[in-house]
Amino acid sequence: MGKLLYGTAYDGKVRFSAIDSKDLVMEARERHKLSYLPSVVLGRLITGAALTVPWLGEGETITFIISGDGPAGNVTAQASSEGTVRGYISNTSFELKPNSFGKFDVKGAVGKGDLTVVRDIGLKTPYTSKVPLISGEIAEDIAYYYTKSEQIPSAFAIGVLMDQHGIEEAGGVAVQILDRTISSEVLDSLERNFTHLSITTLMKEKSMEDILTYLLATNDILYETMDVVFKCNCSKEKALQSLNVLSLDDLVHLIGEGGAEVTCNWCSSKYYFSKEEVENILHIKQSSRES
Ligand SMILES: [Zn+2]
Repeated sequence: MGKLLYGTAYDGKVRFSAIDSKDLVMEARERHKLSYLPSVVLGRLITGAALTVPWLGEGETITFIISGDGPAGNVTAQASSEGTVRGYISNTSFELKPNSFGKFDVKGAVGKGDLTVVRDIGLKTPYTSKVPLISGEIAEDIAYYYTKSEQIPSAFAIGVLMDQHGIEEAGGVAVQILDRTISSEVLDSLERNFTHLSITTLMKEKSMEDILTYLLATNDILYETMDVVFKCNCSKEKALQSLNVLSLDDLVHLIGEGGAEVTCNWCSSKYYFSKEEVENILHIKQSSRES
């Protein structure tokens, strides 16, 4: 569970959110059995998605898909207005040499490519938008999406600190400018405070409230808190749908193997189907074909 703080400052001209996402990143790492660098890459995207939770409409989900040419492959994270996140990475096990700052080379892992954002309110066709990756470090890329595609000037700072023992710290802060009449002094200080910001270093020393008052350069902030959890909405019924689309030959093959195992991409939960259950699917398919 991650504790999310969100609210406004400067008479509502600025909105912000901040999260300690250590538990969420640890859960993603354990579920998908990720090695170090994939944990950091997916952890950053999941943290970024979590930061947007308070800005979603009721019942809305937002999905961030990073498609780069680096070894990470596709990296996907989704958040819902109910305060859930989930996500996965194509390549769960790879490492690169540290970058020139001695840090995990997230940019190298992601490579060049695009960030696709899908906003779904469950009624109409989801709204999809694609922007090029401008950094590959993820926080800047999400900020660029909001600034460019939604015309909301934004800054994100996200960090996942990891050593051989596991995730040490993980968290993020996001700020958005809702009213452009805000003074240039405030804008300058926000920009200055977000430049080269290491959120995980700050988290070791300060509470999230103190980090926010420092970053926003004001004590006058109004905020609320909510819990964000790693939660998937998969089920055996949904897993069954993935068997239903298989060909008759594939189903016969699975029956020969004694049954089927379906793994959820999002959360790595496994669903087992006995030989008899697969035979049932096959029979239903055969009879629907004959009718
Ligand atoms: Zn799942």
